[in-house]
Amino acid sequence: MLVIDNLHAETAGKAILKGLSLTVKAGEIHAIMGPNGAGKSTLAYTLGGRPGYEVTGGTATLAGADLLAMAPHERAAAGLFLGFQYPVEIPGVSNLQFLRTALNAQRRARGEKDLSGAEFMKIARAQATELGLDQEMLKRPVNVGFSGGEKKRNEMVQMGIIDPKFAILDETDSGLDIDALRTVGHGINTIMRRPDKAVLLITHYQRLLDYVKPDVVHVLAAGRIVRSGGPELALELEREGYAQVAA
Ligand code: ADP
Ligand code: MG
Ligand code: MG
Repeated sequence: MLVIDNLHAETAGKAILKGLSLTVKAGEIHAIMGPNGAGKSTLAYTLGGRPGYEVTGGTATLAGADLLAMAPHERAAAGLFLGFQYPVEIPGVSNLQFLRTALNAQRRARGEKDLSGAEFMKIARAQATELGLDQEMLKRPVNVGFSGGEKKRNEMVQMGIIDPKFAILDETDSGLDIDALRTVGHGINTIMRRPDKAVLLITHYQRLLDYVKPDVVHVLAAGRIVRSGGPELALELEREGYAQVAA
């Protein structure tokens, strides 16, 4: 589903990704672990098309389509979803407005018609219920005044409504308590653990992987994948540290 081949990328004139290759098949969840500054977030931003991150070599395709040739909104319409450590607050825009606009923009880009208000509300309510988000929070401005756990729950509801093909979640577990961690785990498992979807889970810690069992674990160091293995690799990293395992 996602095929990255020899990807090179730079930001602020500094080469960060230096020949990164990675293949994630449909139905799989891959974890990427690695030391600070390894380029994990740069990988997420580059795949998302964030301005300021320049591809200087290599390819990345999503379901066969050239991801790097697309504008960010086209990548989203192609089924890519990015989740981040610090969900953004948008004062003055309600969660429902935001989500409906995002979902309909994607539907239009795919040549589908807009959902009616009633159709959209049905989906939004169902997702909020599934992920334990208070229905009232759907009406509030996006993430404004939400606790860390509520922001995460909200992000999972966003993911459920958008229903992406491929999700890249960048340290979405950082700083979460156990309940919020469970929510994120449950969200990923219920929304994304499907034969026709896949996930790239970027994390510093093994603990999220207690809730979301990865099929493959990769170590990213100095801009490349230096090791790949099964779930046991995450445990080994936790025990031995990156320096030892990535050497
Ligand atoms: P990770 O997510 O693995 O901790 P990052 O992708 O955030 O790593 O960063 C990789 C490297 O790129 C680091 O050395 C970081 O300082 C540098 N970097 C990231 N973003 C910028 C930026 N906007 N300007 C300058 N350097 C950056
Ligand atoms: Mg970091
Ligand atoms: Mg990072």
